[in-house]
Amino acid sequence: MSKPFRGGCACQTVRYEVFGEPVAMVDCQCRQCQRDSGTGHASHMVFAGAEVKVEGEVRTWDLVGDAGTRKRSGFCAICGSPVLLTFPDAPAIFSVRAASLDEPGRYGPQFVTWTASAQPWDCIDPALTRFERMPPGQ
Ligand SMILES: [Zn+2]
Ligand SMILES: [Zn+2]
Repeated sequence: MSKPFRGGCACQTVRYEVFGEPVAMVDCQCRQCQRDSGTGHASHMVFAGAEVKVEGEVRTWDLVGDAGTRKRSGFCAICGSPVLLTFPDAPAIFSVRAASLDEPGRYGPQFVTWTASAQPWDCIDPALTRFERMPPGQ
């Protein structure tokens, strides 16, 4: 196994460590990710069944995706940075925001979701596989 993925929020009160390999790295251009990130997309590094350690006070708010998926967004109680995403109906899944990584270069998007709501000023590598909404079966 490679070294753990470490990272945290902007003020570094929230710190996490993930022991495992990501199962997906996704740039999502849905409206929820746009509003939450303050820009054209959010970049999610997704783990399944990984051992996770989180320190610092994480607050959460719940949202429901257009496909009905319940999501729980975790952010720092002090600085408000969005850091984590978990899924109440799929507790094995744990996702971190790419830019929260201590080594953001370990993130490499594999595909793009929700291009249906992409903004013309948000340019993502056109070579990546794109989905108008979510990939089939997700
Ligand atoms: Zn913080
Ligand atoms: Zn999204």
